[in-house]
Amino acid sequence: MSNVLASIVGKKVYPGDVLCTIEEFLPGDGVYVEDGYIRAARFGIVEVDFANRCIHVKPLGKRPRLPRKGSVVYGVVTGVPREELAFVKIFADERMMPFNGFFSGVLHVSQASDTPGQHSIYDFVKPGDFIRATIVSSSAPYLLSIKRPQDGVILAYCSVCGAPLYKVPGSPYLVCKRCGNKEKRKIAIHYMLEERRKR
Ligand SMILES: [Zn+2]
Repeated sequence: MSNVLASIVGKKVYPGDVLCTIEEFLPGDGVYVEDGYIRAARFGIVEVDFANRCIHVKPLGKRPRLPRKGSVVYGVVTGVPREELAFVKIFADERMMPFNGFFSGVLHVSQASDTPGQHSIYDFVKPGDFIRATIVSSSAPYLLSIKRPQDGVILAYCSVCGAPLYKVPGSPYLVCKRCGNKEKRKIAIHYMLEERRKR
């Protein structure tokens, strides 16, 4: 399930196409809800507004330029070829506007945190995670940083059962409400799902 978002953001859709479930996002422009699913109401491109947890279908129009140094981008972690390195598929700019095609990004563990000492990239991200990152190189390969508080993992799924993980206020761990699993990540301040405090 973890690649559902990557497969839908930036995709061309037709009226009636299923985008996601109503648990995942709020319906935005150009969509409608039926039987628990959010569907496209028009022909266009799927966009996600992470700040408001909202999914839209924008009519086809102008697309953003290539990413460049200093650009904030969104991507999904596609693999960890070595302990200190992750590959990221970059799919959208800061406004969640999809780029023309995908770009490969590289996240090195030294760009994940300012904490000294040896770390594994798995302490910060895992394959399937959605991240917000800043580009720190001026050309391809796009080198990414997630050191800033706004950057990091914005949505992750349980590696045991596949359910979405929740942020817990004040904790460095994400938790799975389904199986109770806890996982460490570099959590962005605007992580999408937050566990409500119990009264
Ligand atoms: Zn789980």
